[in-house]
This record gives sequence, structure tokens and C-alpha cells, in this order.
Amino acid sequence: MRKPIIAGNWKMYKTVSEAVALVKELETIVAGAPVEVLVCPPFTAIYAVKQQLANSSIKVGAQDVFWETEGAFTGQIAPKMLKETGCDYVIIGHSERRQYFGETDETVNQKLKAALKAGLLPIVCVGETLQQREANITEKVIEAQLTGSISGLAAAEAAQLVIAYEPVWAIGTGRTASAEDAAAVCGFIRQKLGGLFGDSCAAEVRIQYGGSVKPENIVELMGKSDIDGALVGGASLNPHTFGNIVRFNSR
Ligand code: PEP
Repeated sequence: MRKPIIAGNWKMYKTVSEAVALVKELETIVAGAPVEVLVCPPFTAIYAVKQQLANSSIKVGAQDVFWETEGAFTGQIAPKMLKETGCDYVIIGHSERRQYFGETDETVNQKLKAALKAGLLPIVCVGETLQQREANITEKVIEAQLTGSISGLAAAEAAQLVIAYEPVWAIGTGRTASAEDAAAVCGFIRQKLGGLFGDSCAAEVRIQYGGSVKPENIVELMGKSDIDGALVGGASLNPHTFGNIVRFNSR
């Protein structure tokens, strides 16, 4: 039985004090929620947020990681550094990293292997652009990103992954994929995972939808059997809005 996971990607928002204030409110709002709740602050706020959440079930993640364990790599952050600050998860291959920072399926693959080795659980992002969707090559694009990103993993490692299906055209635009379209791609991802790693692995992997998720559309998305949660950007920056997403089934 897969436990749904709803994660907030704060992107480059929130100073340390703002981040701590946000989770102080969020802790109370989401206490007892029947889903796994995760926040991914900027690197600078991770430690303080984790300290604030010491007695909470809310998990903490990072938004990126480097693949080397240490060395002369100015500006990079190693997996063990994230682990020691209290991170449980790390987002890898977000479309903004692919678009602005040269992330490729190969670098995603290196990062996720390094993350797993350090005991971090990767949330691997895949998604097509609007142009690719309109050219009817969504499945081809998703399959290539998926196979490239997770190649070389053992089934037991793959089973620990969270995959976030995030159509690029729906991120930060207010345009959400319909629940049917989102579920169709999430189902396709699960089917591909089955082909690569076997059905029991595919049945374990949690697949999130991301792209303008808000309190108004979360219920329908979560009603789809292949959607196991959401990766939420803009709407995760307000504790009440994010709380309403997390508590989607008790509003
Ligand atoms: C994201 O950053 O992963 C995201 C889905 O953003 P938004 O919810 O703002 O579209």
C-alpha cells in the first residue's frame, strides 16, 4: 500500500527566519494528516527548518544535490551534507534545473545514485514541454527521461524512488493538466517501471503530479489510483494554502 506524499518545493523563496515561521504554522495545521508531508526549503534554511520540526512528522528535503562526495567543486552541496542537516529527501532533475542549469538525464542519473548511496530518497522529476505535448510525443519524452534518469539501478533501489510527473507547461503557469491526462501519464510511468524493474517494484514506487496544484484541484487529482501525491510549488509558500492541499480529504 503506497502512502501518498505531498511535497512543497519552495524554490528560491524564504530566508531562514521566514522558513522557520512558515513551518511553525504548518506543523499545527497538518498534524495528524494521513499523508506524508514534506517541505523542500532553500539549502540555507534546511537545518533551521529541521530543528523546528524536531517533534513533527513533517519531512525535510533539498531541491538539488551534487554527485561527488566532497572536493573542489565550488558552490556544490554533497549528499552527506544534506543527510547531516536532517534531509530525508532530495528533488532531482526539476525542469527549472534542466532549463536554466544544464541538468540532463545523465546528471540526474549520477545525482540520484549518489543520493541513494547517502541514504537520501530522490524525487525524480520528468515532464514534457507544451511543444512536445502538442506534437503528441509526451510518452516518448517521458520514457526517454525516465529510462535515462534511472538507468543502472537495482529494483530494490528503484522501489524507493518518488517520481514526480510535472508537465513543464503547467509549472507556475496556473494551467493544470486535467486529472485524466495527469493520471494517464502517471499510469504510463508505472507501466514502464514494471517493464524495467518488475511489477512489484512498480507497485511500490510513488508517483506525484506537479504543476499548479492548489486546494481547488487536489481532490480530483488524488482520486486517481496512479497519482500518489503532489509536488507543489507556489501554493506551498503559504501554510494555510499548503495545509488545505495536504488536508484535501478532510475539508
Ligand atoms: C514545482 O515547482 O515543482 C511546481 C509544480 O510549481 P507550481 O506548483 O508553482 O506550478
